[in-house]
Amino acid sequence: MSLTIRKMQKYLKEKYKRTKPEDMKNTQRYFLKLIEEVGELAEVIRKNQRMVDNNIKGTIEEELSDVLYYVLIIANTYDIDLEECFRMKEDLNRIKYGHTLKIDDIAEDICANTNTKFSRKDRI
Ligand SMILES: [Mg+2]
Repeated sequence: MSLTIRKMQKYLKEKYKRTKPEDMKNTQRYFLKLIEEVGELAEVIRKNQRMVDNNIKGTIEEELSDVLYYVLIIANTYDIDLEECFRMKEDLNRIKYGHTLKIDDIAEDICANTNTKFSRKDRI
């Protein structure tokens, strides 16, 4: 099943509604958690700790997921649709940097590869 930013945001919104409704607007706390996770990401990047055999603990893959998690949570506290914002920002960047590629130009290709399991050699 395809996983989109919008779906991740809806999932987290529902998850927090069910488990931590009092935290749903605690933006400052989530921002500090995001910075904490960015620090953890810096450490695993410095150590080049990549995921091996689907063991994600203590890896770049884990910390990138943690960073994304808190970016999505913060967007939710403001009721921001990150998919829409990404499109709008890419429209601005296309003008600013003169790019011609649009996000929808490659959407089909991405969908076709959603079930692909990347091996380590594919990432190099
Ligand atoms: Mg972490």
